[in-house]
Parts: sequence; structure tokens; C-alpha cells
Amino acid sequence: MIYLDHAAATPVSKKVLEAMTPYFTDDFFNPSAAYLPAKKVAHDYGEAKGIIAHAIGAKASDLIITAGATEANNLAFTAIKQGGHVLYLETEHDSVRRVAENCSGEAVKVLDNGLIDLANLKAKISDETQLISISLANNELGTIQPLAEVAQIIREIKIDRMKRGVKTQLLLHSDASQALNLLDINVARLGIDLLTLNAAKVYGPKGVGALYVSHDVRLKPLTVGGGQENGLRSGTENVPGVIGFAKAIEIAKEHLNGNRKKYANWRRILLSELQGYELINKKHTLDNFIVLCYNGIDAERLVFLLEEKDICVATGAACAASKGVRSHVLKAIGLSDEQIAGSLRITLGETNTEEQIHEAARIINQVVHDEKERIGGYE
Ligand code: PLP
Repeated sequence: MIYLDHAAATPVSKKVLEAMTPYFTDDFFNPSAAYLPAKKVAHDYGEAKGIIAHAIGAKASDLIITAGATEANNLAFTAIKQGGHVLYLETEHDSVRRVAENCSGEAVKVLDNGLIDLANLKAKISDETQLISISLANNELGTIQPLAEVAQIIREIKIDRMKRGVKTQLLLHSDASQALNLLDINVARLGIDLLTLNAAKVYGPKGVGALYVSHDVRLKPLTVGGGQENGLRSGTENVPGVIGFAKAIEIAKEHLNGNRKKYANWRRILLSELQGYELINKKHTLDNFIVLCYNGIDAERLVFLLEEKDICVATGAACAASKGVRSHVLKAIGLSDEQIAGSLRITLGETNTEEQIHEAARIINQVVHDEKERIGGYE
């Protein structure tokens, strides 16, 4: 099988699984227990959190471990105090959009290249605005947002608010689920108050995520109970999951530059060998994201036809695809319904080889050719 949907899921790498295994079996102890073996597990858990935190320039105590990015995104929004105004990018993942909508959030526009419309952002920030949520890289287009520029705008607004005696907090949250694997992230450099991480997209286990929380931000727990994670996420710690997440991040950081070069090269190969498409994500994108539009073709049918040839691709976010919903992201960048219907998302990753890339291009060309012939539009 040629798997080209790494934005949807990545396999747990062998090294990650090896690191996790002892914590399912021999070192299974509850880290809160009083005896020595449990204390060792608590120590290892803390160290693993430290490794994850270090990868984004933070400390273990800044991280709240969650059961994935959805929960981390939801938790981030608890920073809003009553009556607060919220802004989010219109192309955000549903786990941000839905929670923002629940808080009567307002969407900020993107330009037709997928980048945030900074003028629209500035126009929408009011004295009541408490939280702005903008993903670091989009999960359908791979678009990398200029977060440092957003942080600068926020800094200026905070200074202005201070001068005028307006005391409302103004926080920047970013969902870095897709970016963690391919971008060098530093929370201080980016000026971020809250950052969502996702182990499942970096060859770590599913259902494990984290929220970085700057020390001056106050959150409210979504679950209450034993008081783990500074009282913000009660429940026995997922020790194997966090150990696996730390190992996965270590590996990702070690191979960051090499992987970026490798994917950028494979992207170039695919774009030169594929035929008859319109490239949607031309610029400002993660190196492993390729979004193509085959005008006049039903991409959902293409996904199905390619699967018959052992190639896995996507039409967009996996969660949207399973609900049969048209992509709000492609709509936001101004694609027509016909273009959206013909759009295919290819995301490269560690399961691929260069040989597979050539093979995938050949098969996709063939399937598209046959499909165009079938519908009578091929010249
Ligand atoms: N945010 C982004 C950008 C994602 O791509 C995903 C998963 O696809 C999520 C959040 C949700 O992650 P999870 O399903 O692990 O909670």
C-alpha cells in the first residue's frame, strides 16, 4: 500500500512502541501511589513531559497532558472569562471552530492563499476580545500562518489597552497539531500563550496530546477528580502514551531538517510527474502537503478508485470526509463547488519512499486519465 494521508494519522514508530511497552507491563504503576516503583514511574512521566516541553522551548510544569488535540483545544478556550469575545481563523479544525462557536466566537477571514487576513483580524479585535485562536499550520492545506506577526499585533494592542486602562486579557492560542513534525516551534519566540500538541500526528500514539499554558494564564478544568495535571486534567496519567509522545518528539526534532528536505523533494517530484491538475496550496505550506484540484472530476470517486490500486489519499480532513461535509477550508480560500469537489489532499510521511512517489504519480495519472475518458472529457 502507498499511504499518502499522513495528516490524518501516522503509524506509531517502532522506537516509540519500544519506549512505551515497559510502561504497559512491568512499570504499570499508578504514578500517584506511595511505593518506590510507582515513584519511579512518576519520575519517568515527569521526564517525558520535560522532553515534550523542551521541544517547544517550555518547561514540564507548563504542560497539561490531554487525551489528544481536540481536548487540548477545548481546554484552551476555558481561559475565556465570562462575556469575553473570541476570534478564530475561519479555516480552523472543527475542534476549534465548534468550541469557538459555543463561545459566540467570530471568524477571521483568510486570503485566497490560505494565509490569515491580518487587516480583517485587526478590524475584528475589540476591547472585549480575550482570546485569538490561529493554528500554526492548517490541516487541509498545510498553510503555515505568520504567528509571530499576529503576536506582534497582539503586543501592540495590549500596550494600547494598558495606556487606556483597559484590563481585559488578550491571549493567543495556536493549534500546532500538524506543524509539530515539520516546524521548529518555540513558544516564546512565537509569542504564544496557549499551544496545542498532538502525538498522533508525529508517529506517537493516538489519544495523547498536550496543552502548553503560559504561567500567567488561568484555565478551568474540563474534568474534575483526583487533581492530576495541576488540577486541570484529573484522571490517572497515561504514562505509556506520554512516554511514547516524548520519544516521538525526540525523533521528530532529530530528523526535522532532513525530513523537510526529503518531503520538499518528493513534493517537487510529484508536482512534476502528475498531469492535468491545478495546484491549490502553492506557497506558505508544510513541505509534506500537496492539495490538487482535478477540474470536472469527483475527487471522492478518485479516492475510492485509488484505494482499489492500494493508494490512500484524502479529499480533506478525515473527520469531514466521514460526515460527507464539503470542506469549509477550501470554501474559505474561494474555491468553487466544482473545484472543491475535484480536490485531493496528499500528505507525505515516513511510510513513503522515493520509489513510491514515482509509482503514486504514475498510478494517479492513470486513474485520472481513465476517469476523464469515462466521463468523456479527455482530449
Ligand atoms: N487539530 C488539528 C489541526 C488536527 O489536524 C486534528 C486531527 O486531525 C485535531 C486537531 C484533532 O486531533 P485529535 O483527533 O487527536 O483530538
